[in-house]
Amino acid sequence: MKALVLDSKETFTVKEIEKPDFSEEQVLVRVSYVGVCGSDLARYFEGKVHNYPIVLGHEFSGVVERVGGQVRAVKEGDRVAIAPLVPCSECENCERGKPALCEHYSFVGSRQQGAMAEYVAVDEKNVLVLPDEVSIEEAALIEPLTVAIHGIERIQFNAGAEVVVFGAGTIGVMTLLALKARGAGNVTVVDINDEKLKMAREVGADFTINSKRVNLTDYFSNHSRPEVVIETAGVSQTQVQSIEIVEKLGKVVYVGTATREVVFPPKVFERILRGEIEITGSWMSYSVPFPGFEWKAALQYIKDGVIDVKPLINGVYRLEDKETPFLKMRDPENYSIKFLYEIC
Ligand SMILES: [Zn+2]
Ligand SMILES: [Zn+2]
Repeated sequence: MKALVLDSKETFTVKEIEKPDFSEEQVLVRVSYVGVCGSDLARYFEGKVHNYPIVLGHEFSGVVERVGGQVRAVKEGDRVAIAPLVPCSECENCERGKPALCEHYSFVGSRQQGAMAEYVAVDEKNVLVLPDEVSIEEAALIEPLTVAIHGIERIQFNAGAEVVVFGAGTIGVMTLLALKARGAGNVTVVDINDEKLKMAREVGADFTINSKRVNLTDYFSNHSRPEVVIETAGVSQTQVQSIEIVEKLGKVVYVGTATREVVFPPKVFERILRGEIEITGSWMSYSVPFPGFEWKAALQYIKDGVIDVKPLINGVYRLEDKETPFLKMRDPENYSIKFLYEIC
C-alpha cells in the first residue's frame, strides 16, 4: 500500500509499504481523510518520534474494508472515524477508568503506524460508525474536537458562564465550539494572530483580544473577569496570564503543553491562594466505556448541526504533496486551522 513515510527528521517519502495485518478483534480501515496535528509538526520538524521510519496521522476517517472474525458491531463498508489511543486495559489507570493515563499505551500515528497511508488496522473498540448526517471529510476532525470536549468537561461551569480561551489554533477554536454547544455565555478568544482571531469570531467567539496590542491585566481590570479560563496556546506567558485574569473562585484548565519554563511571580501565585482558584490539567480525550463520552458527544454535536467543523478545513492535499501542509502550518503568517490529506 502507499504511505507517506517519515524516514528521518524532515524527510518524507511516498512509498509502498506492507499492508497491515489485522487480528480477529480488529478492523482494516481504508483511510479517506487524515488531519495534520500540531503534534505532527513536532514529530516532523523536531524529530520528536519514538522511532524511524514512522507513518504519522492520528486524526482520521475511512471506510471499513475487512473485519476480523470476532468483530460484531462494525461491518464492511461502514464509514468510520477512529479513536487513535490503544490503552493496555490492564494497568491501574486503565482499571480506574482513565485510559488516557495508561502506563503502557500505544497510539496510532506515533507509537504505531499511522493514517497517512492507505490502510490502518485498529481494534473494533476504537471504531466509531458514522451516522449518514456526518460526512467522511468532517469526521477527520472528530479527534481534535474530542480533545476540546474533554478539556471543558474537566471542570464544572454553569450555563452562561463567561469564559476566556487562550489560543485560536485548532484546539482553541474547537474549545470555543464545544463551550458554545455546552451553554457557555460570552467566550473571549485571545491570540496574537489577527487572522486567526477573525476566524474565531466567524465561528462564534463573542469577543477577541490580540494580546500583542492589548495588555490583558489592564483589560480585565475594566471588564468582568472570566469564571473559567481554558489555556490551549501552550505558551508560558499565557499559562501565567490564565491565573492573572481569572476571577476569584474561578477555574483554569491547562490543555496546551508547556515548551518553556513557566514562572509564576509571587503576586500571581498568591491569586491562586487568595482567590481559591481551581486548576486542572487535561490530557487527550478518553473515558469509559472506551473511547468515552467525548467521542459520543462530538459525533452527536456534528450530527445535530450544533457544531460545524467544516469551516475549519482550510486545505486538502494528497500524500504526494508530502510536507507542503506542514510547512504552511509552521509559517507564522499562517491562519488556517486544519489541513487534511485525502487518501482515497
Ligand atoms: Zn492531534
Ligand atoms: Zn493501561
